Amino acid sequence: MDIKFWGVRGSIPSPGPDTSQFGGNTPCVEIRNENEPLIILDAGTGIRKLGLDIMQDKSVSEIHIFFSHTHWDHIQGLPFFLPLFSPKYTIKLYGPVHYSKNLEQILSQQMEYTYFPVRVQELAANLSFHDIAETDFCIGKEVKISTKYVNHPVVCLAYKIMVNGKSFIYATDHEPYRNLFADGNENDREEGRLVAQEQTDALIDFLDGVDTLCVDGQYTPKEYKSRVGWGHSSVDHSYQLGKESGAKEVILFHHDPDRTDADLQIILSDLQNRSWSPLSGTIPVRLAREQLVITL
Ligand SMILES: [Zn+2]
Ligand SMILES: [Zn+2]
Repeated sequence: MDIKFWGVRGSIPSPGPDTSQFGGNTPCVEIRNENEPLIILDAGTGIRKLGLDIMQDKSVSEIHIFFSHTHWDHIQGLPFFLPLFSPKYTIKLYGPVHYSKNLEQILSQQMEYTYFPVRVQELAANLSFHDIAETDFCIGKEVKISTKYVNHPVVCLAYKIMVNGKSFIYATDHEPYRNLFADGNENDREEGRLVAQEQTDALIDFLDGVDTLCVDGQYTPKEYKSRVGWGHSSVDHSYQLGKESGAKEVILFHHDPDRTDADLQIILSDLQNRSWSPLSGTIPVRLAREQLVITL
């Protein structure tokens, strides 16, 4: 399995000389397996260049795009994904079930004439839309996909992709579960504590033993204190999550748009140099950057 990063930035694109090393495009990850359909995770602005790359590759005809959720930074590159405009491609789009609108309605709205000159109905590719919840299924010959809800202000899915005994998990836009009744009476506090613990345990079960965990690490621990409830983790939270779930490697993702290349290097060195008492041992940690390729 070859995993390539085309967009690693959270919230809004952040181009410029200060971010050129890690890149300023919003989330998009490509996954290729030999003789299997091409997989794309999220359609942030990074998907534009991936689309150009795909157009040069005659072997690709079937593409599966999985959306973690439909916040702008994860869908705004889609109208600029050139394979949508060619009848050569079959493109299946998957995203989490919403209460009020389905995936097709949400993605079509951003391509209404108010926002974009070409509507979804006018696209030439063979498109299909699939609303999914927590589930397990297969695509192609032997690619297994599992999904799990994570903690974000809108429904948001983490994806586990498994091929040939190797696994990659994409868990962006998540913050640690917390006791929502911490200010309540004693019974409510206990109930809130148990629910948060159950949700954390279920997530750790889902992540258990993964080869590579790509996970939200938007904030520093200090920043997180004033951004509780915004749906993102600190780099420390995400590193700890990787350790507790037995991940073999952690890739921090969804970098804050204000973070320069120099800031990111400092964050990485700090994480690598710190002792992680009381938990023993460390696991490899890297920062996602555009054009990084991981082979599992
Ligand atoms: Zn995001
Ligand atoms: Zn989001």
